[in-house]
Amino acid sequence: MAKNPLKDLPGVGEKTSEKLIEAGYDDLMAIAAASIGEICDAIECGEGTAEKVIEGARQAVNMDFETAEAVYEKRKLVRRITTGSKALDDLLGGGVETASITEAHGAFGSSKTQLAFQLSVNVQLPEEEGGLAGGAVFIDTENTFRPERVEQMAIAMGLDPKEVLKNIFVARAYNSDHQILLLDKVKDIAKENNIRLLVVDSLTSLFRSDYSGRGELAPRQQKMNRYLHNIQKISEVNNIAVYITNQVMANPGQLFGDPTTPAGGHILGHAATYRMYLRKSKDQKRVAKLIDAPSLPDSEAIFKVTEEGIRD
Ligand code: ADP
Ligand code: MG
Repeated sequence: MAKNPLKDLPGVGEKTSEKLIEAGYDDLMAIAAASIGEICDAIECGEGTAEKVIEGARQAVNMDFETAEAVYEKRKLVRRITTGSKALDDLLGGGVETASITEAHGAFGSSKTQLAFQLSVNVQLPEEEGGLAGGAVFIDTENTFRPERVEQMAIAMGLDPKEVLKNIFVARAYNSDHQILLLDKVKDIAKENNIRLLVVDSLTSLFRSDYSGRGELAPRQQKMNRYLHNIQKISEVNNIAVYITNQVMANPGQLFGDPTTPAGGHILGHAATYRMYLRKSKDQKRVAKLIDAPSLPDSEAIFKVTEEGIRD
């Protein structure tokens, strides 16, 4: 191993820093953003030690209060990926944003996955065409990733389909634990391959089926919460755009309120910066409704899913 980036952490010996690096905490920012429980798990230490390690890392990266001006400077690094539809881009404030999570929920066939494909293609466009000249990581939990469809969209964008497929790293997750494990690999892939988009399609389905029994709701939400926090960290530390999907169950038993509330409930609500509800309209038409964005009005956009992909 080259230079040890953790060697200057006060109170952290060689053994501990080796363990941290082995567990994937190979830079100070990752440690500074970790929870005490995560560090305890990673290096099998007591809470006191974990607290010291985190505190040291926070001082080293100077992570306490910062001025609004500094936050503003950081926000300037935020970029956007076009969805292929001007109306949908406008709804999201200019496209899907890096360093945050965008969630789409909707019924089967509402085009959540189509949008995931389109973003995986569009992220590869040069910046002046609405891309980030980067690659994508695609975590597929429902076995619906279709390279043929991606190829079709790539050709329609004027890109070399072979190159486009080469820049999308796809993993099929078989259960929720596997899905969690795959996220660790994303960190490594992201650094080496200029990854600017992470897709998790769908975020919730495996958690839902793995924790479907009575009394399993709390552990499910806890695991999902932790998973989402890890996604958030990856996204912020690497300035990556994250797009996650969530299938909505039509609930005919519900008489009052919105019968299409997304699964995952409030947990997703807190983690995702942009949430939109997608629904099928006539023919190729789809309606996207934005919900709770921090600096945008709640509003709707209409777009189409065509042979070429997502369009106005
Ligand atoms: P979900 O929200 O369940 O992920 P999808 O993203 O899979 O839904 O959307 C599926 C829909 O996308 C299909 O019902 C069809 O309307 C549209 N679609 C898929 N492939 C094509 C294509 N090659 N040309 C036109 N429309 C397509
Ligand atoms: Mg889908």
